Amino acid sequence: MFYMRATSNLWKSSHTQTLSLISTSMQTQYLKVKRSAKSPTSRSKFIGLAIFALTTFGISLAQAHAVMAATWKFPWKASVTSVINQGWHNDGYGMNSLDFGLRGGEDVLAPVDATVVSQCNAGNNHRAAKFRAANGQFFSLIHITTSDIFVGKTYKLGDKIGTVASDRPWNNCAKSTGPHLHMGFPSRNFNIDGYNFTPWSVNAGVTLRSTNGASTGGNIISVNFSARTASGGVNVRSAPTTASSIVRTIGGNQTVNFDAWTYGQPINDLWAGKPDARWYRISGTNTWIASAVVWGNAPGSNPMP
Ligand SMILES: [Zn+2]
Repeated sequence: MFYMRATSNLWKSSHTQTLSLISTSMQTQYLKVKRSAKSPTSRSKFIGLAIFALTTFGISLAQAHAVMAATWKFPWKASVTSVINQGWHNDGYGMNSLDFGLRGGEDVLAPVDATVVSQCNAGNNHRAAKFRAANGQFFSLIHITTSDIFVGKTYKLGDKIGTVASDRPWNNCAKSTGPHLHMGFPSRNFNIDGYNFTPWSVNAGVTLRSTNGASTGGNIISVNFSARTASGGVNVRSAPTTASSIVRTIGGNQTVNFDAWTYGQPINDLWAGKPDARWYRISGTNTWIASAVVWGNAPGSNPMP
């Protein structure tokens, strides 16, 4: 169930053609160009191509990932859904912004490891704040009720920042006509929690499911190791369950470097045919592959708890 669909001949031939066009000096440019592809489907295919090409040139997957943005999650809990209630607009920080429909009082969680660089109080602790993510990108969150925020405060992904404000201030710090969460992004091309937002698509009308704060099912054990993907390719997910969003896919027979493992949803191992609850975290990311679909074991681990 973790296999990508069988690789088509067309797909194979496009791999070959693409490889001949890519040099290591072109990697970044190639990624940028391909990221502007309009269709989410084609974009993920292109990223897959880029990773395939990078690894073929002897560059590790961890490095390939570093070329791309950090993994971001929606700033609300995994048990809560949302829909876009205003498309692209700019905020007072000059960020490219979207409004997410959420009830007043819902928890607001850090979408990525980040530090507060600016914040203000619109009254009654109804706050606006600008953050710098650990990877250097900036974002904003507006309409958060909290009394505990200050410039320099740091949050880890999933930390609670406050709650969605229910009041409706109208001043230079925040303007609100009803409860929602405003988030400003570094770019109008942005992937968050497996959803692709572009200048042309804000996933209007789509039920947006967060994986932020989702249980990982147990402790995360840090250890560096590598394993090889099943020949059919594998899904990379935002958390160690098949209900979690697919962040990307990796082709077959690729060596992937991991920096931790945890117990999550058990999956029947492709080779042993027995349940394996281990999920492996790709180095330098918060993204996961089921142990059941890679050849190789986390040192010192057993398939089931
Ligand atoms: Zn807004």
